[in-house]
Amino acid sequence: MNKKIRVRFAPSPTGPLHMGGVRTALFNYLFAKQNGGDFLLRIEDTDQNRYVEGAEEYINQALAWCGIKIDEGVKEGGNFAPYRQSDRKELYKKYAEILINSGNAYYAFDTAEDLEKMRKRLEEEKSSVRLYNRQTRMQMKNSFTLSAEELEKRINSGEKYVVRFNMPEDEKIEVKDMIRGKVVFDSSLLDDKVLYKSDGMPTYHLANIVDDKLMEISHVIRGEEWLPSLPLHVLLYRSLGWENDMPKFAHLSLLLKPNGKGKLSKRDGDKMGFPVFPLQWTDPKNGEISRGYKEDGYLPEAFVNIIALLGWNPGTEQEIMDINELIKNFDIYKVVKSGAKFDPEKAKWFNKQYISKLSDKKLAEIFTEKFEVQIGKAKQEYIQKVCSLVKERISLTGDFWTQASFFFEAPTEYDKKIVKKRWKEDTSEFMSQIIMLINKIGEADFVSINIENSIKEHIEKNELNFGKILNPLRLTLTGGGGGPHIFDIMETIGKLETVKRIETAIEKLQN
Ligand code: GLU
Repeated sequence: MNKKIRVRFAPSPTGPLHMGGVRTALFNYLFAKQNGGDFLLRIEDTDQNRYVEGAEEYINQALAWCGIKIDEGVKEGGNFAPYRQSDRKELYKKYAEILINSGNAYYAFDTAEDLEKMRKRLEEEKSSVRLYNRQTRMQMKNSFTLSAEELEKRINSGEKYVVRFNMPEDEKIEVKDMIRGKVVFDSSLLDDKVLYKSDGMPTYHLANIVDDKLMEISHVIRGEEWLPSLPLHVLLYRSLGWENDMPKFAHLSLLLKPNGKGKLSKRDGDKMGFPVFPLQWTDPKNGEISRGYKEDGYLPEAFVNIIALLGWNPGTEQEIMDINELIKNFDIYKVVKSGAKFDPEKAKWFNKQYISKLSDKKLAEIFTEKFEVQIGKAKQEYIQKVCSLVKERISLTGDFWTQASFFFEAPTEYDKKIVKKRWKEDTSEFMSQIIMLINKIGEADFVSINIENSIKEHIEKNELNFGKILNPLRLTLTGGGGGPHIFDIMETIGKLETVKRIETAIEKLQN
């Protein structure tokens, strides 16, 4: 029988989740869901020095915003709890001991100074080896160089030690990666990695392997930065006798800067004006704020769609896919090996598509929440009507106010350039004529098409110039140039308000 598909996203809470991290989580999630499997969130916080306040909560909120649902995790619980490694601390020592007893790991007592001395010595000797490994360990303080009694004495006296992996000599370690195919590593180039630290905590390597095994993880999908650790992980499975339970591995390539040159960093985002985090993050140490896609006006559905297409595509022309289509179409075997370039302009395009697809009702809800203060007491029905007129012009939710503010408040200023160009000596007279025309239309008939017919008829009959009338008219209503169809604006704000605005403009602009 095939094993149940179980994947985990295993971030370390060392800061906010980068877009690359979101992609790792998303690919795990898509893979799990298309196979009827489970998606776990495991918090890997064994390195207490790198712990950052608020990072774990941020990770939870970011995944929730993206609509990535966690089947098992710290908050959700599950049969394999606890899901935070610091809460599993007691568990790992046993496995370090099993590895020591089977000769696959050993004690080492070297202090930080000892290690520094070793580094210097190797540098002076111009040695080609700079690692703590089979060759160099014989000059250090460990199970290989200390007598059994000495070893016991040190341990019993409470001296600090670490447990290191006994890396085999000259072995080719072959692994099949789901994305990269066969990858081969040479053990002679690898060091005797620390598995267990003097503070009683396992390192990432040991904890990760133990937990993947105990939590019955079937597939490990993670970032390419973990590829160099893969041979050690494979050897750990073997040394613990868990070879048959070893998960399958997939290492995702890096996200690259928009120009394709190098890894996408927060600094690139700052420089080029786009966020690299899903949600805004405030650094607890210095209060520095980093932008988030949510706060920048992206819809989570669009963000997820953008992220899914970094390094993967369905092999068709289709680009817009909601989460269910992504679950259906995603194929981990088709994820590219090369780095995935991030294009912030394309990201905006995606968001625009998603905004234009939303119903006016949904958009009105979103904008009401975002612009609560500005929108004030306007009725939902009214806001929905405004949405129907402006939604094609919006890329980011924040654009709503730029595009639609005049539907909620009369202009207090008029664009100076447009005034100069469009408001001529005779404009006030023309505008007064428009007021007269409007006043002839009954309240109930004050709809776009009637207003349009009446004004156009007037223009044609008097052989006036369309631009000369409509441009200043728009200015009186919106304070500026562009915007939706002018007669739609008039219908929406209503007869009274339209007249009032034209009157105010005449007063302010005639000289
Ligand atoms: N804790 C590791 C990280 O922060 C997890 C790597 C893995 O998935 O094995 O990315």
